Amino acid sequence: MILKEDSAPSAAEPPLLLQGGTLLTLDAGATVLRGADLLIREGRIASLGVPEAPPDTRVLDVSGCLVLPGLIQGHIHLGQTFFRGLAEERRLLSWLRERIWPLEAAHDDESAYWCSLLGAAECLLSGTTTIQDIGIGPGARGLLQAITDSGLRAFAGQCLMDSGDGLPEAMRLDTDAALAATEALGDHFEDGPGGRLRYVLNPRFVLTCSDPLWVGIRELASRRGWPVHTHALEQRDETLAVRKLKGGRDEIEYFADQGVLATDLRIAHGVWITGAHLNRVREGRFSVVHCPSSNLKLGSGIADLLAIRRTGVPVGIGTDATACSNQLDNFAEVRLAALLQKVRHGPDAFSGLDALRLATSEGARALNLQDEIGSIEPGKRADLVVLAAGRPELWAAPQADPHDLVAFGASRATVRHVLIEGRLKVEDGRLTRLDLAEIYRQSERHLGELIRRSGIEL
Ligand SMILES: [Zn+2]
Repeated sequence: MILKEDSAPSAAEPPLLLQGGTLLTLDAGATVLRGADLLIREGRIASLGVPEAPPDTRVLDVSGCLVLPGLIQGHIHLGQTFFRGLAEERRLLSWLRERIWPLEAAHDDESAYWCSLLGAAECLLSGTTTIQDIGIGPGARGLLQAITDSGLRAFAGQCLMDSGDGLPEAMRLDTDAALAATEALGDHFEDGPGGRLRYVLNPRFVLTCSDPLWVGIRELASRRGWPVHTHALEQRDETLAVRKLKGGRDEIEYFADQGVLATDLRIAHGVWITGAHLNRVREGRFSVVHCPSSNLKLGSGIADLLAIRRTGVPVGIGTDATACSNQLDNFAEVRLAALLQKVRHGPDAFSGLDALRLATSEGARALNLQDEIGSIEPGKRADLVVLAAGRPELWAAPQADPHDLVAFGASRATVRHVLIEGRLKVEDGRLTRLDLAEIYRQSERHLGELIRRSGIEL
């Protein structure tokens, strides 16, 4: 029932023409092409405007529709999709210790597979085509297999932890064994079908990773050329605990001392990042992934995106997880990001276009994928979202800026087609390769068993 195809696109596949849409290219000049065609060959955008289409071209009529680059979620935990609604009304550290860690610790490869596929289905249905997943400990292999089978483009890896208060035994890995296991997983999964999955090293956060683990991660990153994705500066309680544990240093000071700032470092949250931090990281390959719903729901705070962007550090965006933001629709995050910056800096400080860039062109820079995805330009991968014509929430005067219409009006409900490398993953609002009914059936069974294994009283 889950189709395992999805090899790399080949010259044998007929070209595909998206005909007559309004293209929000999200290129450097934010060019909008109205009533334009978009020709896809071998998984890439071949030409725009009025392309010369070969005779065997398949045509998809998208007249009246808005077409934009597939959305990018720079931070997500597909392995927490089962835990929606099971950890409400808690601040970060009790949210982790009382609920999320015991539940994650009970994952096996099978439960992680169906949990992650359920999340991947939700991502696809809401227009996300690329994710960066911070992984899980037990069940990491199931998570990586699900991402591979889903067809999503991804950075993904195994969540690494070897110490820390309140951490269940099953998640407390032996440091050397964890480093060897994560490297072996990288060898197995990287460059799988179509080369869409790239490996990323995922130390969870400073509070659960020992000094030797960070040293090993830095060494692995430099030897294998893998990036590092971690949580940092999410909540004040967390940074206070980091200072206590690391001799007064906060996360960025600690990373500097451990040499982790020399890696391709992508931090999730960065709510409490300061000007001093930004001065330290701006020269390196460093990015921040904003998770506004999660930051509000866990009471973490509101990140200052203007301050981060002024330094040239790219900002991505993501839903984080259903366990903290309850849904994986990245359009909701885009809208919220814009609204929060407006309330913080004034209504003219952050436009719909600014917000949309977090999930497209700038989100691609945050993952160092700007040469591949993030805008509609010839040569880039044909990862695209087509929003339905005739939706009342997108109906507007022709003078209205379509970036504003999408940033403030689009949602999962407006998604009609989703393409990754020119292949339809969602067609007319329905998944083409994944059987949602079967995913629900399997998920129900595996979640029940997981809750029993976790031993926690819900
Ligand atoms: Zn997270």
